[in-house]
Amino acid sequence: MAMIFCPLYSGSSGNCLFVENGQTRLLIDAGKPGRTITTALELIGVDPSTLQGILITHEHSDHIAGAGVLCRRFGIPVYATEGTWRAMDGKVGEIPPGLRRAFDKRHDFYLGDVGVAPFAIPHDAAEPVGYRLWGAGVSIATATDLGHFTPDILSAISGSSLVLLESNHDPDMLMQNRSYSAQLKRRILGNKGHLSNEACAQAILQLTETGVHHIILGHLSGENNTPELALSVSENRVEEAGIRLGRELSIDLAWRDRVGGVYTLKEGA
Ligand SMILES: [Zn+2]
Ligand SMILES: [Zn+2]
Repeated sequence: MAMIFCPLYSGSSGNCLFVENGQTRLLIDAGKPGRTITTALELIGVDPSTLQGILITHEHSDHIAGAGVLCRRFGIPVYATEGTWRAMDGKVGEIPPGLRRAFDKRHDFYLGDVGVAPFAIPHDAAEPVGYRLWGAGVSIATATDLGHFTPDILSAISGSSLVLLESNHDPDMLMQNRSYSAQLKRRILGNKGHLSNEACAQAILQLTETGVHHIILGHLSGENNTPELALSVSENRVEEAGIRLGRELSIDLAWRDRVGGVYTLKEGA
């Protein structure tokens, strides 16, 4: 048994992650057009009609843009907190009542063969969550859209086999960006905005102490960051802390505009 994970898309322009364990296949978020997600799934050999659920983190369009279309076209149930449902109802199109699933973020639940452990995140949305998914003796966590990295998030994802962690922006690039209003800059930099490269690096140091050995940097900004910069900030901090990259810790990237790596996770591996 193994758990399979693939970040189909990750970034401010759209998020969609694929997870498989046993007979269960699901998506975390569907923030690209339905057709784009369908094509990405086919690229990794997954028939979209075999998906058993779409777990939504929050109602921002870069997380839900294709959710309604995929739900209606393939009959896939959509899971979200009550607060997220209220906030996304007008944005996601019609969801047939039989495919609408609300959950309480304080309680874990099963979606087929996958154990789902949601946790609250500090972000400017109605009731946003991250997820830790369990199966095959391993766990995968996704923590993006974080204004800051909290002790509660650390404990929710401590020791995960793989963590997709936000490395959204370089604060200097953001401040110098003339196409962003002062208000938007304040929002991104704020306590309920997005995690900077530096804050991401600090979070990685905390996570490695809990036994996390695999990190994927995600939700990069297209204008206020580059993949090279995000990677170098985290790698430098980790090496300064005496952690050996490639041996004790691996850091990969999830891409904004192309399908990322397919990760196979097995117990003890
Ligand atoms: Zn968001
Ligand atoms: Zn987002």
